[in-house]
Amino acid sequence: MAKAHVVLFPGPVKGNVNSMLKLAQLLALHDFHVTFLNTENNHHRFHRFGHIEALSQTYPTLQFKTIPDGLPHHHPRSGDHALVDLYASMNSHAKPLLREILLSQTPQKPRVTCLIGDGFLAALAADVADEVGIPLIHFFAIGVSSFWALFCAPNLFQSNELPIRGEEDMDRIITTLPGMENLLRCRDLPSFYRGAESHMVDPLKSKVFESHQTLGARGLILNTFEDIDGPVLSQIRLKIPQVFAVGPLHAHLNSRRVSDAKTTPSTSSFWEVDRGCLTWLDSQPLKSVIYVSFGSITTLTRERLLEFWYGLVDSKKRFLWVVRPDMVAGKENDGRIPEELEEGTKERGLMVGWAPQEEALAHKAIGGFLTHSGWNSTLESLVAGVPMICWPYFADQQVNSRFVNEVWKLGLDMKDVCDRHVVENMVNDLMVHRRDEFLRSAQAMAMLAHKSVSPSGSSYSSLDQLIQYIKSISQ
Ligand code: UDP
Repeated sequence: MAKAHVVLFPGPVKGNVNSMLKLAQLLALHDFHVTFLNTENNHHRFHRFGHIEALSQTYPTLQFKTIPDGLPHHHPRSGDHALVDLYASMNSHAKPLLREILLSQTPQKPRVTCLIGDGFLAALAADVADEVGIPLIHFFAIGVSSFWALFCAPNLFQSNELPIRGEEDMDRIITTLPGMENLLRCRDLPSFYRGAESHMVDPLKSKVFESHQTLGARGLILNTFEDIDGPVLSQIRLKIPQVFAVGPLHAHLNSRRVSDAKTTPSTSSFWEVDRGCLTWLDSQPLKSVIYVSFGSITTLTRERLLEFWYGLVDSKKRFLWVVRPDMVAGKENDGRIPEELEEGTKERGLMVGWAPQEEALAHKAIGGFLTHSGWNSTLESLVAGVPMICWPYFADQQVNSRFVNEVWKLGLDMKDVCDRHVVENMVNDLMVHRRDEFLRSAQAMAMLAHKSVSPSGSSYSSLDQLIQYIKSISQ
């Protein structure tokens, strides 16, 4: 029988590309032909740093194809509005191109037999897959509880728990979310439910349940593991029969891949990686440094940047802070770290444009992570056994930070506050006053995460089931 040929079609954003690329590598390791369909913009950024070459050498059955994201070259691609624009643009123009790619066939690459698509492009992927007769499996790169809170939106509206009725309603407890009863406050729901962000509801949220309830994908892949999301996964399985919890994908890939692989964890970087920060970490005492990063999309006003900076400096703790070239919003941003900050940081800190995050988090000098609670960052911290201070920005991050603080007890949640005194106090709580308590729970959690991707673990067997399932539907 010819090898199955799977096309992976991620959304146009880094966190999504990152986790789907790990899945692509895992499938390529298991004898599948794999086509990774990236946007032109993201593909070029990978290419610039040699990632495509390294990945193609390591995985001979993995190929890359591109699709335009449809936005003009200079259109911003970070910040919450850019995210909506990117998805809207993909949804409106990508259909014919996706169809063409699914139908293409060469002597080296057999016919496509399965499509794995980003769940936020679900309706688009479902239409095309249906048209060309190829089975579709959805992949959601967001936190699972957030996926579930979005999926249950119609019920939340029906039971009058939604909409959120303004700022004064933010601390109201949501009581009817199955598997998460009485856990989330309104402020912990996915940010798309907030008034100011409701413009995102149509392009993002509604597509989720529309696709699952009416367009019927063959299954759902989630980047999580049973020990952290068991109760919610049980609820999801009542609605969607084929659910594969195969995460944390980066740890899973590390546990399965051949040891001489030419790729490193940062072989999917959009910016030039500053590896010098690892050398700087080598000279810092054990667990003395707080790593600070807000991911690939978050933008900060200059005022907020300064609140964080003063908070960090006043905490008197060492810090390694990623300030992306496009992170500071506003006209005054010229893509560089503000000079006065760089100067004032030297005593105890280091600022870089982009770090090898997985490696940094695994470094023995790191004792905490101030994060925007993106799902990849959350999983990476959890696998490395690093406690977190969460400053969620948008999307699933509000839910993720609630779980980090309230359910998994892995850190503190700064939600909806950006104040230098709060930053200073929380850094000291995490790194000094409650250090042992948080380190203990983070290390216990890291063990569970590693166990889940070991041969006796739940994610390991779920990936094996996914592999068999793809083979069975790849006719
Ligand atoms: N990341 C990185 N270096 C950095 C900052 C972030 O490699 O300096 C990676 C990080 O390891 C993670 C991804 O970028 O895999 C960010 O994804 P996440 O889901 O946390 O946030 P998003 O960027 O989607 O908001």
